Amino acid sequence: MLNIQTIREDFPVLSQKVYNKPLIYFDNGATSQKPEIVIHKLRELYAEQNSSIHRGVHYLSSKMTERYEAARETVREFIHAGKVEEIVFTAGTTASINLVAFSFGEAFIHPGDEILVTELEHHSNIVPWQLLAERKGASLKVLPINEKGELKLEMLDELLTEKVKILAITQVSNAIGTINPVKEIIQKAHDKDIPVLLDGAQGVQHGELDVQELECDFYAFSGHKVFGPNGTGVLYGKEKWLESMPPCQGGGDMIANVSFEKTTWADLPLKFEAGTSNYPAAIALAEALNYVTSVGRDNIVTYEKELLGYLSKSLQMIEGLKIYGTSQDKISTISFLINGIHHQDTGMILDKLGIAVRVGNHCAQPLMKSLGIEGTVRASLCFYNTKEEIDQLCNGLEKVKQMFG
Ligand code: PMP
Repeated sequence: MLNIQTIREDFPVLSQKVYNKPLIYFDNGATSQKPEIVIHKLRELYAEQNSSIHRGVHYLSSKMTERYEAARETVREFIHAGKVEEIVFTAGTTASINLVAFSFGEAFIHPGDEILVTELEHHSNIVPWQLLAERKGASLKVLPINEKGELKLEMLDELLTEKVKILAITQVSNAIGTINPVKEIIQKAHDKDIPVLLDGAQGVQHGELDVQELECDFYAFSGHKVFGPNGTGVLYGKEKWLESMPPCQGGGDMIANVSFEKTTWADLPLKFEAGTSNYPAAIALAEALNYVTSVGRDNIVTYEKELLGYLSKSLQMIEGLKIYGTSQDKISTISFLINGIHHQDTGMILDKLGIAVRVGNHCAQPLMKSLGIEGTVRASLCFYNTKEEIDQLCNGLEKVKQMFG
């Protein structure tokens, strides 16, 4: 059992008032808030230990290098990867997916090949593949969804033709909360020797993760959505793929030897970490992951399920409110619209009541198109939210109805 009040005290931002009302933060899908220990860690690193990592002979540099590499080990453990060589620090999910789209694409995508994505994807897991397809003369194929916002798995076999060279799929939909049965999907793809990239931007913070058990070939996530700093992220890649992919950026740190005639690459994972990395943020990300571990991922899943049930029941009691995405398996994120009221108007009124929700297409325009709408109001909750806050949201929505109904 989590003590939510104690947990809330770990997050300084949550105790503030906006427009003189207690802040209700239901925009965790866009970015999560940061616990004090993460904020403190960043301050401590800059105030007391800052020094560029790798190859430094002096005290601060070698200490910072040790901390950076220890952070990599923390990430490895958190996602249950087999080796630290398989953990690449990046600037976020977008950067991780672009890295794979470029480097994997250079090595393995040829004219006429196909890249399979799904209708549930965030633009970050569509556009990099479109760029690759254009560059290489390949094409993009799309696995559609049903009316509940679940993938039409019955169409997967047919779409996984021998032309498909990679399947890129989100673990969890940011826009409507669907949790995809990724293990089953990966198995189907692997039966045909097709590698799979999982976009874990909305998955990593909502429960246990074991990339070896899932057998995914790549896993991408952002630090800022898992209570860590902005500008950090991770790409997990199976060693066999990372070894056979060329680097996508050249510069310092990613080389073994440079000459005008021929340059050779550093060993994994540094081959993919060109330039001075955001090492303080990566170390603070490890602090955030340790924080999640201390809260307990099973506890998080249990409590967030309870929140989802309560939110879903409460919203269903509001006349004229329609929920988009009614998959059996969901995270604590609900997208909805109230009859005839524009999502922007709903969001603006809720804001004045101190309630932060996201409105719009959630960087998922193809998904919105398939749902036949322009956008939704999205409440994305996490383990520091409460049922009382959900009650406040529902009261707010009744006010919205009074004003616009
Ligand atoms: N994929 C999904 C499913 C997301 O929710 C997001 C962020 N909203 C991204 C990718 C992109 O993440 P970032 O902007 O942190 O790179």
